[in-house]
Amino acid sequence: MKTRTHEKSKNSAVEDLNPFHIAEQQFDNAIHYLPGLKRGLVEFLKRPGKSVTLEFPIEMDDGSVQIFTGHRVLHSRVRGPGKGGIRYHPEVTVDEVRALASWMTWKCAVADIPFGGAKGGVACNPKKLSDAVLRRITRRYISGLGDNIGPYVDIPAPDVYTDAKTMAWIYDTYDVMHPGRNNLPVVTGKPLDIGGSLGRHEATARGCLFATQQALSRGVVSGLKSLKGARIVVQGFGNAGAIAAELFHEAGAKIIGVSDSKGAIFRERGFDPSDVLEHKQAKETVVGAAGTEVVSNEELLALPCDILIPAALECQIRADNADAVQARFVVEAANGPTTPAADRLLFSKGIPVLPDILANSGGVTVSYFEWVQNIENEKWAEADVNAKLKNKIERATDAVVERQLEINRQVRAGTLQADSKGKLEPVDLRTAALALAIDRVATVALERGIWP
Ligand code: NAD
Repeated sequence: MKTRTHEKSKNSAVEDLNPFHIAEQQFDNAIHYLPGLKRGLVEFLKRPGKSVTLEFPIEMDDGSVQIFTGHRVLHSRVRGPGKGGIRYHPEVTVDEVRALASWMTWKCAVADIPFGGAKGGVACNPKKLSDAVLRRITRRYISGLGDNIGPYVDIPAPDVYTDAKTMAWIYDTYDVMHPGRNNLPVVTGKPLDIGGSLGRHEATARGCLFATQQALSRGVVSGLKSLKGARIVVQGFGNAGAIAAELFHEAGAKIIGVSDSKGAIFRERGFDPSDVLEHKQAKETVVGAAGTEVVSNEELLALPCDILIPAALECQIRADNADAVQARFVVEAANGPTTPAADRLLFSKGIPVLPDILANSGGVTVSYFEWVQNIENEKWAEADVNAKLKNKIERATDAVVERQLEINRQVRAGTLQADSKGKLEPVDLRTAALALAIDRVATVALERGIWP
């Protein structure tokens, strides 16, 4: 496994950017605030339960053959079957998938939906592959996974560079292998006419909007109570980022900067993100959208704004650039965009971070709704889906905010028993959300009893 590292700008120390090491650090930090947690459970809760790696050949369009590597990691099935997206990206590694799978476990627990955590990925560059090759990759990967996925075992969904079309191929492959039964609940994020749920396409971004609004109304950011007129910067302009930009714009915020893998754009007065989306659909990048100026990725992250929404990939806000962040609030639509060192820096500067396991949990929440509809052969109206989503996300946000208040009240009163960490410090929202999630999973593990 390659460990991505970088030189810190202010000293020569190197920050470990291996996503699974980051997930472990976050977990290790959170359990200090769970003094009642049975110590024997710690490793069981932390380590992924099962990892499958597949190497498979694919015939390319020119008749040549290439080998691809795919992974599926089931982190936990304590609270229900595994659930998690499938990513197609050149930098997919087993440790990235392990990290994403563990974050899924905590996310499902925070959102209080009856799933465990899983994730999958194939190392490939979809931008350079035809649909025919992507379909063959999907079919080989899914058939290779065999019964490691299933409607009550582990249920995939879209993630970076996979979409409803990919999910349709997954469903079809699994259905061919398991004829004679309702296989729709094996995968979520499907096209609407193959059992997809209304509202799923927008769910990650809509959940992000609901969580942000609820956090603001709870006073998480001093002096910023609502989105009206709030200045927003979004990194990443795909399913999570572009739709978040549109929904935040509709909610009265001003989108002043966005980016994709090819570059970033800025306009002081703000712009309508649907114009930028139209430009991206024509030109395959946001760069060059009318009335905007081009800025670098580093400049985008450092723009003075009210809310910065990282919606691309992991490790975007790190030790070497967190100090430059001028946002008043960071809302993680992406998974793992902020490293532990950056978390500490932002916390010390009073910039709250709405953590991924809460902020982007709308996607898996509506995936759960899709799964329920598929099992019941139902089709819910979009307004019902969105209302149920709002309810779930607001409750999850309240639970995280209250957990943070409660932990910090106990820390200040000296009533939380410290263990090996020594003196306990007040926690950020991520640590509070993780403590809540680990507590919920641990409770179920103990209620079920350790097998046998
Ligand atoms: P997507 O493939 O739809 O979009 C990814 C976007 O990020 C694209 O616009 C791409 O150009 C951009 N990007 C890639 N590298 C970049 C870089 N270095 N700088 C700036 N932009 C870059 O993927 P998505 O589904 O929107 O996923 C984005 C993030 O949201 C991921 O972290 C994913 O795990 C997370 N997420 C997605 C869902 C979902 O339902 N799709 C749910 C929860 C979390």
